[in-house]
Amino acid sequence: MMQRRQILAGLVAGGALGLAGCATGTGSANKAKVLVVGGGYGGATAAKYIRLLSDHSIDVMMVEPNRQFVSCPISNLVIAGMKTMADITNPYDGLSSKHGVRIVHDRVASIDAQKKTATLAGGTVVAYDKLVLAPGIDFMWDQTEGLQAAHAAGQILHAWKAGEETMALRRQLQAMRDGGTYAIAIPEAPYRCPPGPYERASVVAAYLQKHKPKSKVLILDANQDVTSKGPLFKKAWKELYGPMVEYRPQHKVTAVDGKTNTLKFDVQEDLKADVVNVLPVMRAGALAVQTGLANANGRWCHVNFINFESTAAKDIHVIGDAIQVAQGMPKSGHMANSHAKVTAAALVAELQGMEINPHPMLTNVCMSYVDATHVIHVASVHEYERIKKSFFTIGGSGGVSDVRSDLEGRYAEAWAANIWADVLR
Ligand SMILES: Cc1cc2nc3c(=O)[nH]c(=O)nc-3n(C[C@H](O)[C@H](O)[C@H](O)COP(=O)(O)OP(=O)(O)OC[C@H]3O[C@@H](n4cnc5c(N)ncnc54)[C@H](O)[C@@H]3O)c2cc1C
Repeated sequence: MMQRRQILAGLVAGGALGLAGCATGTGSANKAKVLVVGGGYGGATAAKYIRLLSDHSIDVMMVEPNRQFVSCPISNLVIAGMKTMADITNPYDGLSSKHGVRIVHDRVASIDAQKKTATLAGGTVVAYDKLVLAPGIDFMWDQTEGLQAAHAAGQILHAWKAGEETMALRRQLQAMRDGGTYAIAIPEAPYRCPPGPYERASVVAAYLQKHKPKSKVLILDANQDVTSKGPLFKKAWKELYGPMVEYRPQHKVTAVDGKTNTLKFDVQEDLKADVVNVLPVMRAGALAVQTGLANANGRWCHVNFINFESTAAKDIHVIGDAIQVAQGMPKSGHMANSHAKVTAAALVAELQGMEINPHPMLTNVCMSYVDATHVIHVASVHEYERIKKSFFTIGGSGGVSDVRSDLEGRYAEAWAANIWADVLR
């Protein structure tokens, strides 16, 4: 605590703690100050690239409660026992040692968009010229009766934010009897990582096939059909797992009973399973909602796509899963990393009095494992259209795999290693 306060005290400006644009009496006098909130795929990338693209002339502070970066991509393989937590955990050190990002391990409790200050949970007030908000997602517990209590009791997990819960779900699967049922319930889109639930069902099936072959995997989907790479997933389930995997569309969970592991639906009969994995309805991270930035149905944040500035607050730029997406834009780590680079370039241009790139582009690749080694992908390139003020997928720019393959499995390993290096080192 003392050490953190000292770091922040080094940024004192005119008596107020912080990253003030008019900072005096510090090594960073007169430098523009950017505060990045959240050190996930979006925030950490933005912090690094603002430093890089400004030739280290802009001060960047990143506030993130977690001491290490734990990746959601690849976390399904940890749940299935094919990778370890160590494989998906990376240090934040490179951002500070190589790029000079000031990292503060705390939580931003509130933002005052008028005064351009943020107050940390520890009480410190930080002033900024520009704020990049990348808080990821939070859950709308009230949409599913009984879910919050069952989750708090450790009975019904989501494991949709990688960390301790990833291992807790792993332990539930290890404890399940051979012949038991694992049920995963998927909310209506939009949610974080469209193919993620189907990947999880696939690799859990691979684990059960090997260790508890009499078991069953039930995929209970609130959507009309598989929301990403549908034909490839269905082919894999049929060919690799046969009757072990059962997909049921249009199954919207309305309530759960954690004591009996029962799921209740809006239409169908109640259903019990041995391990119940419910992905709650999602929305932008709580801080975005609380700051009044979730102006798309109180769930997601509208942004001006040219620079990802919130349409509700000047000088606050929202990126990653928290935004109301443009057409064909998934909520993915790759996309958050792409948002961050466009935003970093725009912020640096604005702060240095240059013209913003009028034609930014974004890329996305989502790789999904269907067993321990075979992978399928979907890719796309998105361009900003000036007249429509939004991003659109460029026709023919991407596509999906023809077949699952272990070559793509090796690409997926490389994708993870490369993006972690790009975000953090
Ligand atoms: C099982 C699973 C598999 C996935 N697989 C893939 C994949 O293969 N490829 C892919 O591209 N994407 C994948 N994703 C999606 C990907 O993880 C997300 O899209 C990505 O993490 C979004 O980045 P973000 O920066 O918006 O949010 P996050 O990466 O979640 O980062 C948000 C950060 O903000 C911090 N934070 C929140 N509130 C505050 C606050 N008040 N103060 C300070 N910090 C705060 C949090 O601690 C967190 O570190 C997967 C997701 C899951 C769940």
